[in-house]
Amino acid sequence: MNFFGYCNMTSDIIIIGAGASGLMAGIAAARGGATVTIIEKMPRPARKIMITGKGRCNFTNVKAWNEFSQHIRSKSNFLRPAFYNLSPEKMIAFLEENGLETVVERGDRAFPASHRASDVIDTLVNAAKAAGVRFETGCGIESVEHDGECFVLTGYCHKYSCKKLVIATGGLSYPGTGSTGDGYKWAAAFGHKILPCFPSLTALVPKGYKTEAVNPEIKGHIDRSTPLSELGKALCGIKLKNVGLSLYINDNEVQNEFGDLDFTDGGIEGPIGFQISRNCVKAIFNGSKARIVIDLKPGVELEDVHKRVRSVWNDVQKDPRSRNLSVKGALKVILGKLMPQEMILGFMMSNPGILNGKKGNERIDMNVLAESLKEWAMPVEGFVGYERSVVTAGGVSTDEVFPKTMESRLRSGLYLCGELLDVDCDTGGYNLQCAFSTGYLAGESAASSLHSCN
Ligand SMILES: Cc1cc2nc3c(=O)[nH]c(=O)nc-3n(C[C@H](O)[C@H](O)[C@H](O)COP(=O)(O)OP(=O)(O)OC[C@H]3O[C@@H](n4cnc5c(N)ncnc54)[C@H](O)[C@@H]3O)c2cc1C
Repeated sequence: MNFFGYCNMTSDIIIIGAGASGLMAGIAAARGGATVTIIEKMPRPARKIMITGKGRCNFTNVKAWNEFSQHIRSKSNFLRPAFYNLSPEKMIAFLEENGLETVVERGDRAFPASHRASDVIDTLVNAAKAAGVRFETGCGIESVEHDGECFVLTGYCHKYSCKKLVIATGGLSYPGTGSTGDGYKWAAAFGHKILPCFPSLTALVPKGYKTEAVNPEIKGHIDRSTPLSELGKALCGIKLKNVGLSLYINDNEVQNEFGDLDFTDGGIEGPIGFQISRNCVKAIFNGSKARIVIDLKPGVELEDVHKRVRSVWNDVQKDPRSRNLSVKGALKVILGKLMPQEMILGFMMSNPGILNGKKGNERIDMNVLAESLKEWAMPVEGFVGYERSVVTAGGVSTDEVFPKTMESRLRSGLYLCGELLDVDCDTGGYNLQCAFSTGYLAGESAASSLHSCN
């Protein structure tokens, strides 16, 4: 506050963070007639958007609310007003009006027609500048306070003040993009409840897949860079199409998915791997035991898999080329008729029970083989952390934020939006849409509340 008791305001509204939510908040606020500054600690805005959708930016999903909301993994009702205020169709129209051609692809996922994430960033930044938003980049905010009259922000380079503040600092995922969770401590200082955060849409690490065990500092965290074990090397790179995947927590089946999964240098990923990752990480984080079970033959009943295995075994036995094969060699030939060649080694290592008996006197257990094809079970040792998780689950409790404005229920003039909130979704464009919608609503509400004060 200055000598006369008024703020020496940098702008009417300051937005901390020039990510997806912050940029939309800036555009809405400036179009609402406010003077707006967006402060971004990275040298350029929206570093994270740059890496979305593998650089192609799946910026929204055009499903109607009833279906869209089923992909939100937290309290979806909270997002309903923001979604209708800036729906996926409105987001597409907004980008098109600002010169970006878009396409909708399989699964209702929308992309820039150029398939370049940088085009989305340029469109948003240009729209913000055209609306009059001022950018301060390369200089982050360290602390945020309210002095009774205005918000006072201490940055690494300058001090700022404003009447309305939008915190749009994102979550903790991919900290190299600037999202290091700074907003949580400021929200907590204003009295907000922060629900425990954990990485979601991340690789799950099967037991024995990596050379080292869990990082003891964060329960279940196995850094992405931890080297692969022999088993990990045998499985890494394999992509499974149309398989079943079940998640068991403390021996109870909690989720069942069908689709594609990938074994990567992190562990198990791909669409259905990601789909179960939230429940799995949360369980491990809370000290439960997690196990996944892959069904390599989801369309076939176990009884028929048994029959198929026996018929393959009979064919192999009859084949004169099999006569001099070792037991292991024969098993490899059988597996070659049941799965892609590149999977055989990893599958055998992961299912040692298929060969039983003492060394030198082993035999193939056909029942175990058939069961392993239907129920390839792997305990999950841990998960890849924020260093490579797509999203952060948990965050500022939505119970203390007005869903129709994104304003804090605890501190008037404070707005919270984006991944900072306890909001996370499946892959498919849902996360960015939620960031755009909540950001837009926050900026719009902040600007209109400013006018109602005057
Ligand atoms: C690899 C990857 C791929 C993804 N792909 C998709 C996809 O295709 N589709 C989809 O819908 N979602 C995708 N997501 C998720 C999506 O990108 C995020 O949910 C979304 O970007 C969140 O937006 P946000 O504005 O809340 O936060 P962010 O985009 O994280 O932006 C926060 C900004 O705040 C800045 N900031 C933080 N602290 C400070 C500070 N102290 N001072 C100043 N500035 C600060 C940060 O530098 C950052 O620029 C992906 C995420 C990742 C990691």
